[in-house]
Amino acid sequence: MNQVQRIVIVGGGTAGWLTAGVIAARHQARRAHGFSVTLVESPNVPIIGVGEGTWPTLRTTLRKIGVSETEFFRQCDGAFKQGARFNRWTTGAEDDGYYHPLMLPQGFARVNLAPHWLAEGEGSFCDAVTPQGQLCDAGLAPKTIATPEYEALANYAYHLDAGKFSAFLQRHCCETLGVEHVLADVTQVRMADNGDVAALETAQGPVVEGDLFIDCTGFRALLIEGAMNVPFRSCSDVLFCDTALAVQVPYADPADPVACHTISTAQSAGWVWDIGLPTRRGVGHVYSSSHVSDDQAERDLRAYIGPAADGLNVRKIPIRAGHRETFWKGNVVAVGLAAGFLEPLEASAIVLIELSAKMIAEQLPPNRAVMDVLARRYNATTHYRWGRIIDFLKLHYTLTKRTDTDFWRDNCRAETIPDRLRELMELWKYQAPWLHDEFDRAEEVFPAASYQYVLYGMGHRTHTPPGEGDAEVELARRAWRENRVQTARMMEGLPRHRELLEKIVQHG
Ligand code: FAD
Repeated sequence: MNQVQRIVIVGGGTAGWLTAGVIAARHQARRAHGFSVTLVESPNVPIIGVGEGTWPTLRTTLRKIGVSETEFFRQCDGAFKQGARFNRWTTGAEDDGYYHPLMLPQGFARVNLAPHWLAEGEGSFCDAVTPQGQLCDAGLAPKTIATPEYEALANYAYHLDAGKFSAFLQRHCCETLGVEHVLADVTQVRMADNGDVAALETAQGPVVEGDLFIDCTGFRALLIEGAMNVPFRSCSDVLFCDTALAVQVPYADPADPVACHTISTAQSAGWVWDIGLPTRRGVGHVYSSSHVSDDQAERDLRAYIGPAADGLNVRKIPIRAGHRETFWKGNVVAVGLAAGFLEPLEASAIVLIELSAKMIAEQLPPNRAVMDVLARRYNATTHYRWGRIIDFLKLHYTLTKRTDTDFWRDNCRAETIPDRLRELMELWKYQAPWLHDEFDRAEEVFPAASYQYVLYGMGHRTHTPPGEGDAEVELARRAWRENRVQTARMMEGLPRHRELLEKIVQHG
């Protein structure tokens, strides 16, 4: 009875190929029984070609779809990412900065170090609880050449070349996982009587029929908006940035160090991202055009880059903060930019693609009759995730003490802060985020530790008694000691970032 056997993905960017890979890998055994994954991609509409910072989940995803990490580094101009450094977000001063690293605080499962650090900790919160900020400052890699693929000494994600990454995934999906690739422009969508999508007509001729259609057409949102009329829910009243300028910057010397963290530097009406790859940097300015002119934004970007920006072309990308009112309607699911967009402050887009693809693959409806049940579940989870990401991004803005421009002042206006975040901010005056918080861990993109790093990195004070007795205090002190020992060991034993990347690419 109406089995779901033919999965059709439209769009060949990061969202399309990752989703194809995750579904095809999970359902390999069903290929012999008529199960197929087809990806239709326009030969004329380019992919967005930005989106180069990721989250550690990508290690699990790549491993699961069966690619070699060494080949990933070789073919995608890949580099390690150990977190993000936020400069000038708190006061705007030259020396204002903090890390959101990817390692959890020492002993996170046993003890909440935040109240202890607030009571008697020394230095920054990040340095007190993890080595990773210092590893980033020193430009060290998170592992050595002897560490097996995908395993870490210090937790890590990747920086990658978006164009090369899509091409890499495409090769793997088509050559190893049996994904069928149709290069064609979808021009018409044929609807079934029940309101589902039945087939796609293309300019080049082929008609592609399917049981489940995944819209990965980027900002075009061809199926979810064009065919299913699902509206877009803007959140530009919370997150103001609506334009990005992107540029690729060559290194002055090919042997220059490669930063092993994303650098995010606040500007007068937005922020600049700076991502280091082995062969170039990807740099961009995300800003609110209501608060700064395009010309000024470009001047600020060029001033950030310095003389290396001379003669480089800057690409302007309009962006729209928000997401679909529903992500899965009928037999259409939107993934990637078709589902929505939030400024890339914490690299939340690709991780959301991975989580969406995983959920679709794991709970793939066996037939049309149960599809609506799974769609409701998918929509509830996905709404939760988008909401939490919006809160987390906004947290970076609400904690600022900057009042130098309207942009920063407007960002702190109470009516621009989502209710749930406002409640949490109130709670965090008296209680530090931790495992027992109301976070629903199974669904969480950003764990409670991420909130701690941002809150205490930006100087938030929580007035909380440090512990529940001597044993708890002893646990905290032991965790600090362990952190000092681990930091010294890693600082001594880990190679420089570029050195390890070169070894991986040359010798594997
Ligand atoms: P796209 O890459 O736009 O792909 C769309 C696909 O649809 C293309 O293959 C196109 O050919 C196809 N298509 C369109 N119309 C048709 C048609 N009619 N017929 C057939 N095919 C069609 N994310 C992160 O996680 N980290 C970051 O650091 C980050 N930085 C970003 C910076 C900026 C400025 C922007 C704008 C985004 C950033 N993102 C980031 C988001 C990230 O780029 C995207 O989530 C990711 O690239 C996925 O894009 P996509 O595959 O959904 O869309």
